[in-house]
Amino acid sequence: MPKLGEFELIERYFHREAAPKGLKLGIGDDAAIIEASGPMVVAVDTIVAGIHFPSGHAPDAIGHRALAINLSDVAAMGAEPRWATLALTLPEADSDWLEGFAEGFFALADRFGVALIGGDTTRGALTVTVQVLGDAPAAPLERAGGRVGDAIFVSGTLGDSAAAVELLGRAPPDTSAAGARLIERFSYPEPRVALGRALASVAHAAIDVSDGLMADLGHICEASRCGAKIDIAALPLSPELESALGPERAATLALGGGDDYELCFTAAPEQRPAIRRIARELGLAVSEIGRLVDGDGLTVLRNGVPMAAPAPGYRHF
Ligand code: ADP
Ligand code: MG
Repeated sequence: MPKLGEFELIERYFHREAAPKGLKLGIGDDAAIIEASGPMVVAVDTIVAGIHFPSGHAPDAIGHRALAINLSDVAAMGAEPRWATLALTLPEADSDWLEGFAEGFFALADRFGVALIGGDTTRGALTVTVQVLGDAPAAPLERAGGRVGDAIFVSGTLGDSAAAVELLGRAPPDTSAAGARLIERFSYPEPRVALGRALASVAHAAIDVSDGLMADLGHICEASRCGAKIDIAALPLSPELESALGPERAATLALGGGDDYELCFTAAPEQRPAIRRIARELGLAVSEIGRLVDGDGLTVLRNGVPMAAPAPGYRHF
C-alpha cells in the first residue's frame, strides 16, 4: 500500500472541483461558506466499526451508510439535503479502502444532489461521522406534531436489517437468495428523501425508523403527548424476511429491530388518498399500521387483542 499523507488523502478522495450553487467556499480552507436560502436543518450521526457495522464490512457500504443515515434524518423532517461534512477516523490510510468508501459515499451524495464541503481526518479506530445540512420545509415534520386520531403509516418493509444482522452472525453463513437480499438492505439503506419532502405538506409528525418501530414511534407518542395502537397484522414484512425467519420472528423484528431507515409518520385520516397518491408516484409501499390515541404508551394488537410487546429498540447506554 503506498503511503498517503493527510492532505494528499483529502485531495485525492474527497476534494471535487464542481462548485454547486450556494457554495461560496469549499474544501481547502479553515471552514466552508454556504449561502443559506432560509431556515436549515442540521443532522449529525456517527457510526463505529464493530457497533454499527461489522468490522470488515465492505468500504463502499460504510461510505453509503454514513451518509444514508443522515439523509434519513433530514428526510424525516421533510427537508431537502444540500451539504455534508465528513469526519473520518481511520486506523490506516489504505488507498483501496478509501477508494471504496468514497465510491459508496459519493454515489449516494450525487443521487441526492448533496455536496461534500469539508471535514476532518484523523487516525484511530474506524469511526465515521457525517453531518448533513439542508433546506427546511415551511412546515417541518416534527416528532411533536402528532394528534390523537391520526392514522400511523410506515414506508417500505420493517425488520429486514435486523434479520440481516442475525444472518451475518450465523455460522455457517446464510447463502440463500432471501438472505442475500436482506443483507443487501442492511448494507445499503435507502433514505426516503422524496417521501419526506412530499409528506411535509400532508403529514403531522414523522421519524425515521433507526432504533426499531416501537422505540421510534414511542418518541412520536412521547413528544406528541399521546399513545398509539398498532395492528401487528398490518406491519409490512418482506417475503424475504418471512421466508428467512418465519412469520413470528419476522413480526418481532418488524416491531423491535432497527436500521431499516423507513419513515414512520402520522397524518389525519382524510389524508389517506393524498398519501396513497404520493406512494404510487414514488413507487414506494406505504402501509397504515395503526392510530394515535388518548393516553400514553404503545399497544400492539393481534386480532384486536393487546399482546405482550417485545423489548424496545437499541440503546447505546
Ligand atoms: P484544520 O487544520 O483547519 O482543521 P484540516 O487540515 O483538518 O484543517 O482540513 C483541511 C481542509 O480539508 C478543510 O477544508 C477541511 O474541511 C477539509 N477536510 C479534511 N478532512 C476531510 C474529509 N475527510 N473530507 C472532506 N474534507 C475534509
Ligand atoms: Mg482538522
